[in-house]
Amino acid sequence: MKLEGPGNGISFSYLEDFMNFHRLFKFFPVVAVALGLSADDLYLGQTPEKYLMGDYNGGKVHKVFVNKIEKSSFRMRPDVMAAFQKMIEAYDKDRKGKSNEHIFVRSGFRSYADQKYIWETKFTGKRKMRESVEGKKPEEIVSLILQYSSAPGTSRHHWGTDIDINSFDNTYFEKGGKGEFLYSWLQENASKFGFCQPYNEYSKRGEKGYYLERWHWSYKPVSSKLEKEWQKAYQSKKIIIKGKFMGSNTMSDDLPLTYVTSVNTDCKE
Ligand SMILES: [Zn+2]
Repeated sequence: MKLEGPGNGISFSYLEDFMNFHRLFKFFPVVAVALGLSADDLYLGQTPEKYLMGDYNGGKVHKVFVNKIEKSSFRMRPDVMAAFQKMIEAYDKDRKGKSNEHIFVRSGFRSYADQKYIWETKFTGKRKMRESVEGKKPEEIVSLILQYSSAPGTSRHHWGTDIDINSFDNTYFEKGGKGEFLYSWLQENASKFGFCQPYNEYSKRGEKGYYLERWHWSYKPVSSKLEKEWQKAYQSKKIIIKGKFMGSNTMSDDLPLTYVTSVNTDCKE
């Protein structure tokens, strides 16, 4: 049989159909389909591993949330933004006469490059931490950064599902703090809108992962799935951390996994 091109009057339609079918299903993780979210919904059309590591253009896929009073803006997934806005509306109704503190965003989506910049400025001591890096071994600096910051490629902020609000000081949210009403409201109501606090008390997570962060909230319907997908991709070596940024060679293989998975059980499926 002679193989002819389209110019010879015969189309390659069978071949094209096959290629389209192949393209369509190439990046369809079976788990995502089973959970009722297509790969397009979960990864917003991006390559899964790149999405999980924040190595994509968030400006293209995420929406911009504008803090009206602070005049600052942050990116988050469209589905997360819709739920977040509903939660703010409900909170604003409930806080009338009780609290003047409104909800505003301090951080949302961060790319791999953003996280690498944060990490390396902390590593070199350009960005101050609670302790100085001077005289410390690389592995000691890594542990120090990991108290509050994620290694590039391992942050939940890469997913567009996680948001830091109001204050990076836990006491703001505690008894006597300005955000006391807000925090107790979130504890009671955030789950109704899909949100959970991944970094709850350190002791409740077997003293593993990051320290307590009362400001960090996550949209569980999507982030719980992405956490599982991250774990699978890391274990099958589709996500590689070692050798990619300062101090990464001192990390054990288990370390990134421990940090990604040591979250509040309320944030897991
Ligand atoms: Zn955060």
